Amino acid sequence: MTQLDAARAGTITDAMERVAERERVDPEFVRQQVADGQAVIPTNVNHDRLDPMVIGREFATKVNANIGNSEESGDSETELEKLHTAVHHGADTVMDLSTGSDLDEIRTANLAHSPVPIGTVPIYEAVTRVEDPTELTTERLLSVIEKQAQQGVDYMTIHAGVRLEHLPLTDGRTTGIVSRGGSILAKWMEDNQAENPLYTAFDEICAILSEYDVTISLGDGLRPGSLADAGDPAQYAELETLGELTRRAWDHGVQVMVEGPGHVPMDEIAGQVERQQSVCDGAPFYVLGPLVTDIAPGYDHITSAIGATEAARAGAAMLCYVTPKEHLGLPDAEDVRDGLAAYRIAAHAADVANGREGAREWDDALSEARYAFDWQRQFELALDPERARAFHDQTLPGDNYETARFCSMCGVEFCSMRIDQDARDEGGMDEIEIDDTDGTDPETSQAAAVNRPPVGTHDTAAGPTDSPGADD
Ligand code: SF4
Repeated sequence: MTQLDAARAGTITDAMERVAERERVDPEFVRQQVADGQAVIPTNVNHDRLDPMVIGREFATKVNANIGNSEESGDSETELEKLHTAVHHGADTVMDLSTGSDLDEIRTANLAHSPVPIGTVPIYEAVTRVEDPTELTTERLLSVIEKQAQQGVDYMTIHAGVRLEHLPLTDGRTTGIVSRGGSILAKWMEDNQAENPLYTAFDEICAILSEYDVTISLGDGLRPGSLADAGDPAQYAELETLGELTRRAWDHGVQVMVEGPGHVPMDEIAGQVERQQSVCDGAPFYVLGPLVTDIAPGYDHITSAIGATEAARAGAAMLCYVTPKEHLGLPDAEDVRDGLAAYRIAAHAADVANGREGAREWDDALSEARYAFDWQRQFELALDPERARAFHDQTLPGDNYETARFCSMCGVEFCSMRIDQDARDEGGMDEIEIDDTDGTDPETSQAAAVNRPPVGTHDTAAGPTDSPGADD
């Protein structure tokens, strides 16, 4: 019986009890959300080390970290180090996207050590077992899915929504098909002139997943890989199929989440989330970023965290992190740390804005510690305590600074919080009378004049004078 089956039968499982405790909500609320398909608890019956967690828009926004080796680098030891780094820095789930050697060894080690759900993309392993991707067969795909389910994988990305009839819709795209799974399947369909085997065998796949309670993560194989391709007919045609597959998986008792883009201009993100929620009947939306601009390779943990915040604000339930190495190379442990920090900030910012239970208290507690110059408490409460402490101690090392009423940013003389506190301690601040009878005239005020931006600086309608066509 899957968590979905149990929830529908009115049973509150141990996993539901545990996630209710973690989320500070009533277990019955968790059961209801799971029963309605609005939340998932990825819990393979064979993943013994797992501490259950929940993914759904009514719960705290979750963050996934991708790890995995490639043909070029990464073995079991380095992957375990990345897993450790990811969990240590707050990943709620981890996807093992290994495509190199020792796949079974890496997956087994990860599952043995991981307290968080482990996700995979089974087609990656299936491809490594054939000479050419066009040789993939339905039987091979099913056998890899079954083996990984037996091993204890908690959720799997299955790109069943890419249909043969969708492929012509990608003609003319700026960046074609950028999903690894999507591109492999598209090539397979073109070479074999046949429908996607993950689509035709979808009911058999669901039967396997339901046996081990593997959550299906419906992959978006046609996600846009550039702003130019966002929201195009190919993306939305696939989304319609993902909606159909969501309902079919639910019929099998399989828990479902749906994956989303990719690269999307900021002003289109909320609309995309709302569309997914509508088409897929509220199944949790698991988004990759999205990146809100294409211009910053090397900083795509930032470009995508901006989009991730917007997506979570609009209802996305889990954010798949992006590291600074996106588009450029395989992330190492430090990239994992940087990507996770960016995404945990994105998730938390959205949780604060969405009024999520307990989110805002964290900010207030840290601010109080900051104003009290309680450095130890400030470090403990920091998103990345080790980095906060290290940055502070770079310039003011030693125990005698732990109670200092300043840091090196403004220095002892100019520490505004110290000055402010001293002024309040001396008293009299609340006795100051403000004469606002004549108000402030921005035309004559010296302060207003110097703080005003130069003419045209903030006028986004005005382009550079030397831009093409400016003289037309
Ligand atoms: S010196 Fe400046 S940055 Fe440092 S604690 Fe004081 S006000 Fe804050």
